[in-house]
Amino acid sequence: MLLAFTGNGKGKTTAALGNALRILGAKKRALMVQFIKGPWRSGEHASVTRLGPDFKIISTGKGFVGILGDSLSFEEHMVAVEKGFTITKKEIASGAYHLLILDEIHNAIALGLIPVSFVLSFLDYAKDKVEHIITTGRDAPKEILERAGLVTEMRAVKHPFEKGEKAVQGLDF
Ligand code: ATP
Ligand code: MG
Repeated sequence: MLLAFTGNGKGKTTAALGNALRILGAKKRALMVQFIKGPWRSGEHASVTRLGPDFKIISTGKGFVGILGDSLSFEEHMVAVEKGFTITKKEIASGAYHLLILDEIHNAIALGLIPVSFVLSFLDYAKDKVEHIITTGRDAPKEILERAGLVTEMRAVKHPFEKGEKAVQGLDF
């Protein structure tokens, strides 16, 4: 099953994390690969290490693309995304994981860091290696929305960011 979480509201990555927790309860294993997001550690990284080999998160991104003091070239971000897929392919090759989450992959496609055709081919490969795949991120391309059997759009009704409030530890990271 392919599930896509998109939209401009909060909850895409955390919904995917929730599904991972749920699949662990079914005695299965989850792998989350984070694209774009930088090497900084979010709350989920610390908790997931406690869950041992059943749940693993790999961050492959280099951080913000083109904003907030990004010092890398666009090409460097492209290489990071491609590398992310190489790592993912290796990780799932043995069939060790049941749920694969490609976090922020929609953004990577929308930014032009990876062609949607590449991601679709990857999904073809991955569907024989894992049971379920979740893709997250704003601006999901129509090709992924068409292919997914479940699509949820998080819609921002209100976010403290609009009032200039900063991200909150434990809620936002
Ligand atoms: P989360 O990781 O909390 O589930 P998300 O994956 O839906 O959020 P992203 O687009 O990946 O959202 O952005 C991650 C960060 O941006 C989080 O800190 C989140 O709180 C914040 N965020 C999400 N939606 C909005 C919004 N509409 N306005 C401002 N900030 C937002
Ligand atoms: Mg997210």
